[in-house]
Amino acid sequence: MEYCKRCCYPANTKPDIIFDEKGVCSGCRLIESRPTIDWNERGRWLKDLIEEHKAKAREAGKIYDCIIPVSGGKDSHYQAYLMKEVYGMNPLLVTYNHVFNTKLGIRNLTNLVKSFNCDLLRFTTNPESVRKVSRWALKRMGDVTWHYHAGIMTFPIQAAVRYKIPLMVWGEEGFSELVGMYNQDDMVEFTKKKRQEHSMRGFEPEDILHDDLALQEGITARDLAAFFYPSDEEIEAVGLRGIYLSNYVNWNARKQTELMIEKFGFETAQKRDRTFNLYDKLDDLHANGVHDYLKYLKFGYGRATDDASTEIRHRRMTREEGIAMVTAYDPVRPKDLDVYLRFVGMSEEEFVGMLDPLRDPQIWERGADGQWRTKDHIGNHLRDPGVHEVRLPLVSDRKGFMRSQPKRTYPRDDHIEEFESLNAQKEYVVL
Ligand SMILES: [Zn+2]
Repeated sequence: MEYCKRCCYPANTKPDIIFDEKGVCSGCRLIESRPTIDWNERGRWLKDLIEEHKAKAREAGKIYDCIIPVSGGKDSHYQAYLMKEVYGMNPLLVTYNHVFNTKLGIRNLTNLVKSFNCDLLRFTTNPESVRKVSRWALKRMGDVTWHYHAGIMTFPIQAAVRYKIPLMVWGEEGFSELVGMYNQDDMVEFTKKKRQEHSMRGFEPEDILHDDLALQEGITARDLAAFFYPSDEEIEAVGLRGIYLSNYVNWNARKQTELMIEKFGFETAQKRDRTFNLYDKLDDLHANGVHDYLKYLKFGYGRATDDASTEIRHRRMTREEGIAMVTAYDPVRPKDLDVYLRFVGMSEEEFVGMLDPLRDPQIWERGADGQWRTKDHIGNHLRDPGVHEVRLPLVSDRKGFMRSQPKRTYPRDDHIEEFESLNAQKEYVVL
């Protein structure tokens, strides 16, 4: 397996990355190109766009001038902060409740609504439908949180059509950030096609209704209610446009998170099973657990590879430190696997066995003893020729990249405390 000579990504990274002649991946090169962009000019573009939408909403007598799709996490906080506090917009926050909630996620979502005094529209899929759809997605594509990505990429569009709000403000264009799929000059915007290819993994609900595995699970249109994309006519009637803030501001998740912690009481995790990153994807019990473990079982790498690569690109971590993180975290069996298996009524043997045909033969091989092993781990590439030549100098402030945040001491709302005690014994919190 070929690994990037600067970060920790393997050649089979999904979505696809490419390596240049120095062995550096497209994601590393994209982040490196950031300082060449005139961010002041981009800021002016954003301001013009916002003023135009504000004026249109005012003229039409609308209450909201944009939609911010949110989970309640660090990016949601930053998006709401920029739109409400910095640009004076009146956003409607829209979220899809995937049902795999953590208490910390619920706490941060509440904090988001209160901190920025925004209205929130939230769609909750009933747990039985989640059970069916998650089992189907696991069997079909080895993904337990397909419904989450489908919901957050579709329900806000349904809301935009219903409330006739033409501007959707997304945060980071994630595929550019991780694998350099788009150039920053492309100014890529949200499209149905992009959503379908990446977030929906090629499946629209209309396809699922005819899928044999979905029929076996008894999935009907009602189970998929939040995932039906509005018609072209409906989208055109609203004039809907979805922008990514990372095309307009010099996106730096860690710095932004620190600001949200300090100024608005965003709360981070204390410890996690499968990564050293304590501030990302906190709302979904399985995002960093089972969902990420499946990525490892399929492609031989997980969230620690993503997080270490991000840290290296932002010059806060050396490649050697990154490889140590990947080695320590990526193979770990997550504790939430037990919770998930109970939820879908499956044994671990059945779960892991289901992944056999989905394992990438470029990285996995099965020994005579029936055990799967990685053919060529990144640990074998610590001293590859060319690594030193493409190394970036470290920033002086590497502040606590592996350290847990101090336990937050923000005053906690009474109703959250009550809520936590009520739900202490439950596997999932549905609110
Ligand atoms: Zn790289």
